[in-house]
Amino acid sequence: MTTEQLHTLFLRYPVICTDTRKITPNCLFFALKGDNFDGNAYAADAIKKGASYAIIEDRQFASSEKNILVADVLSTLQQLAKFHREYCNAKVIGLTGSNGKTTTKELITAVLSKKYKTIATKGNLNNHIGVPLTLLSITPETEIAIVEMGANHAQEIAFLCQLAKPDYGYITNFGKAHLEGFGSEEGVIMAKSELYDYLFANNKFVFFNADDTIQASRLNLVTSKLGFSAHPGPHLPIKILGADPYVSLEVRELPIESKLVGRYNFTNCSAAVLIGDYFKVPLTDIKIALENYIPQNNRSQIIQKTSFKIVLDAYNANPTSMKAALENFQELKSARKIAFLGDMFELGNAAEKEHQEIANLAAKMDFDQVFLIGENFYKTTTDLHKYKSFDQLAKSIGNISTEEATILIKGSRGMALERLVALL
Ligand code: ATP
Ligand code: MG
Repeated sequence: MTTEQLHTLFLRYPVICTDTRKITPNCLFFALKGDNFDGNAYAADAIKKGASYAIIEDRQFASSEKNILVADVLSTLQQLAKFHREYCNAKVIGLTGSNGKTTTKELITAVLSKKYKTIATKGNLNNHIGVPLTLLSITPETEIAIVEMGANHAQEIAFLCQLAKPDYGYITNFGKAHLEGFGSEEGVIMAKSELYDYLFANNKFVFFNADDTIQASRLNLVTSKLGFSAHPGPHLPIKILGADPYVSLEVRELPIESKLVGRYNFTNCSAAVLIGDYFKVPLTDIKIALENYIPQNNRSQIIQKTSFKIVLDAYNANPTSMKAALENFQELKSARKIAFLGDMFELGNAAEKEHQEIANLAAKMDFDQVFLIGENFYKTTTDLHKYKSFDQLAKSIGNISTEEATILIKGSRGMALERLVALL
């Protein structure tokens, strides 16, 4: 079956499923293979549960005429997505960066939805499977698609750009994330810049943070671009009014008060303002969209308890976002401050150095107590409280007084530090 024929089928059955636990009637089931599962073995089950067709690659499961046998299910899905993206008329905005992609994607979507029919990446589905699924959620009515692209090694963003063919792009930042796969910070910059490379090569348009020196220097000679800046000048000026605890900003004398904690969210909000403004969403609607956006999934949230307050940022962590979170926490006004910091994963050889630097930084700040949790932090040389594991911390948690305190919780996804909320 050619991609075009498969696409004709997709237009009749425009819902894709890859998990038999979430089958919807008349979907197309793509039998993907993972490290621990083989979708081919579930194809019959998918059909039984109502899938119209199952796309498989293993001949031995090709028992019914509802199975479509292809050479490679994953690349069939990717090629179908690429075809569909070109078939629809939607403009595509591609987003990547080390931190803040999902938050920025949601803010941009909230803003653009005020004026346009939009679709966007669901949750964090930003990889070689998630991007195709996002592209396949574009409908003929969609005007703008906002596509998050993630990467932990070189050439991944270049590949995702070939599928999504973005008309516009924005990179949130270049930070110390996934150093294991990228080799170094320069590796991160090169890999994230693959989005820029695609946009330049195809005469597409770039949105950027003019105060980010790396972005500004990379885009020096580029003409199809639009930036924002916290300073007066040639770019859209967006003033930061405060970040205690919520980020508030001012654009053309209009104040916007977000419900996002963390000074780093200033750039995320600014990108949404810039892009909304470019697409002619009225500023008053941009304000409403940003003010109504409430963060989810343990990202940049405040939880008010009876006698204390939690700044929950336990969704993930890497040296850049950890530093940003500590600096932001330092700025908050509170009678007492306690920080629980969990290990940062995927740092490869840099792990020891990066954990030591964060421990040193946390020790320098005037927090009342800092608790470091995890095997990496346990190896640091520091006077701060250290626990080798979450369970060890949990055993002594009863001795920690939280009265009148503001409490920061941040660590990598694998540490799942949101478990602390119930214990405190
Ligand atoms: P992932 O790699 O998991 O897709 P992401 O890039 O989508 O992550 P978000 O989920 O939006 O990022 O945010 C994760 C965390 O990153 C936030 O909770 C916050 O701590 C931090 N963060 C968000 N925006 C920024 C930013 N602009 N600069 C530095 N850190 C940020
Ligand atoms: Mg994300």
